[in-house]
Amino acid sequence: MIERSPQPSLRKLLSWVTVLVMVVALVVTTALVVLTTLLHRTSASLAANVESVHLAEEIEIDLLLHSRSSDLLVREDLAGDLAVKLAKAAQFAVSAREAATLRDAVLRVDEYLKASQERRAEPEIERLRSAAFAAIEALIDINIADARAAQSSAERWDTQANALGITAAVLLVLVAGVLLWWLRTRAFTPLFGIMRAMQDFERGDREARAEETGHPELRDVALRFNQLASSVAAQRQAQMTFLGGVAHDLRNPLNVLRIAISALGRPVSEARMQKTLEIVARQTTCLERMVGDFLDIARIEAGDLELKPALHDLRKLVRETAELFIEHSALHPIELELDAEVPLARCDALRVEQAVINLISNAVKYSPRGGAVKVGVTSAHGEIVISVGDSGLGMNEADQRRIFDPFTRVGLSQDSIPGCGLGLYIVRKIVLAHAGRIEVDSKPGHGSTFRVRLPESGPGPAP
Ligand code: ADP
Repeated sequence: MIERSPQPSLRKLLSWVTVLVMVVALVVTTALVVLTTLLHRTSASLAANVESVHLAEEIEIDLLLHSRSSDLLVREDLAGDLAVKLAKAAQFAVSAREAATLRDAVLRVDEYLKASQERRAEPEIERLRSAAFAAIEALIDINIADARAAQSSAERWDTQANALGITAAVLLVLVAGVLLWWLRTRAFTPLFGIMRAMQDFERGDREARAEETGHPELRDVALRFNQLASSVAAQRQAQMTFLGGVAHDLRNPLNVLRIAISALGRPVSEARMQKTLEIVARQTTCLERMVGDFLDIARIEAGDLELKPALHDLRKLVRETAELFIEHSALHPIELELDAEVPLARCDALRVEQAVINLISNAVKYSPRGGAVKVGVTSAHGEIVISVGDSGLGMNEADQRRIFDPFTRVGLSQDSIPGCGLGLYIVRKIVLAHAGRIEVDSKPGHGSTFRVRLPESGPGPAP
């Protein structure tokens, strides 16, 4: 047989897959949140750079107009405009470097404006204007450099986001693929096997069993199905055996009846007629007893053995039952051994009586050469013990273990002594229904003693 490596449980495996998918989803979600925040910041800084460049260009135009204009009012207006635009530019300075450059530009523009207002020498004004232009240009350069840097970092994040997205997608597709493959080849194969076995069993194949392979849960399901199927098959087998036994045992008295009745069709002597009628009466009684036993068994098997429990003095019950047999056979004297004091027992008197009758009649029946039948009631270890002993045929140990099964007859008695092997089965069921036990002590050729142990329910007064 091929040794299969032990497989992890379905529950564990599915938990791991779920955790893996959750981790991937969590990583992707976190990365997306971080990336969108970074992109938002980049786009905001790009917008500020564009705005700064735009303002710087307007400042340059104002500076140019200022240098070209000779109208004092226009120059003043332009100087005010320049101050407003430089102040506005401060709002868009996103980096420390840009803020420092802007401060420098403000200084240079102020110096130029002051020099031109004070009407200093043209070369100096020219130098200060060039310095102001240079400072504004530096501001533009910084903003363009910042915008480029933001753009390249946006491209980098884009690449990273793409890589992350593709990795996550590949991982998820891989996990889903492996999961599907595993479900089809590993998880579902034993499941389909179990289903097939169930269908076969349902169609009537009592031998159909599921292969106990796969993950522990599926192995467990298969094992339970197999156990159930075996128990149903065994029950069915037992039912068929029982039915076979019933049919077989009904056939014997019916055969005898048929032969006896056919004999009545011919002219017969008075004595012959009498004998035939006796046979018919005996076989009818036998049939009646068998049908009664079958009814009892049917009730027992259906769980309908209805007990009517009440407190009873078992010494009285056993004595009265035994007295029924006193006249029965001179060969089998009944010896009663009843303890002076025995507690009352909670039981169904009719059922216990039925059990005792069965045991005493067996004791008589299986002692064909006669002998005393000892019937006793005693109490010990919290139990009331009814014993029925004989000195008849007895049984070996193997037979003793089988006699409580239905339709079981043992030893030589089965051929020569009438019976159908149901009495002790019913007795045992009655005793079990009372939460009691039955045991037998026997030796071939020396007789048998049956003991019924019923639970005590308190001390009782002497009868
Ligand atoms: P039946 O007596 O109708 O055969 P039972 O169920 O009462 O059925 O008994 C089953 C078998 O046990 C009997 O066929 C007999 O072989 C054996 N048996 C029962 N009681 C005794 C006994 N007292 N002595 C010897 N054998 C017995």
